Parts: sequence; structure tokens; C-alpha cells
Amino acid sequence: MSIEAMKQALEAMGLMGADLICEAAHHGKKDRHGIGEPCHIQQRWHKAFDALRTAIAEAEKQEPVAWQEADYDRVLQVIKEMRPAAEAIKDKPASWWLDRFEEAVKQLKERA
Ligand SMILES: [Zn+2]
Repeated sequence: MSIEAMKQALEAMGLMGADLICEAAHHGKKDRHGIGEPCHIQQRWHKAFDALRTAIAEAEKQEPVAWQEADYDRVLQVIKEMRPAAEAIKDKPASWWLDRFEEAVKQLKERA
């Protein structure tokens, strides 16, 4: 997976945004929260976003050691949780970039 593809995934993730994730995502028992309370799904979305951004920055610096520090399993978990939200947006299909994003993360994980 090229850095360019990862950048596209990051951009798509940014377009969707954390607020939308909370609105549309299914909240499991442990993730349920009241209005104005911190959203764990959002927090994981932010972590995934930061992890991807860091991975891109490190890849561009060509420091393979840093790739191993990314928590790919966590990112994959977040992608799984984002699927219901992506599918809920009927007028803006978002599942395609989740597929692409998941594929990118899996390839990074294999390399680490
Ligand atoms: Zn929430």
C-alpha cells in the first residue's frame, strides 16, 4: 500500500469526522454515554486518525522502526466499529474507503 493511498484514507476519514461517528455509530453497552459526555467511539476514532497520520509521517521519513509502534489491532477494531456508521450514510456511501483503509492497515500490520 502506497503512502498516497494511506493519505487518501486519512483524508476520507477526516471528511467523515468524529461527530458523525458518534451520531451514527452503534454504541455497545460499554460505550453508551449521555449527551455531552465523552464518547469512547469518538476517542478511538481520534486515536486511529492520529495513528494513521503518524504512520504516514514516519513512512515519509523512512523510519521503518516507528511503524512497529503503531497499534494496528486498535485501528482495525475502530474500523470495525465505524462500519455501521458508514453504512448508515445513505446519500454518501462511505463503506468503500473503510474497505480501503482496512486493507492499508492490514498490510502495514503484516510489515511490522
Ligand atoms: Zn458516542
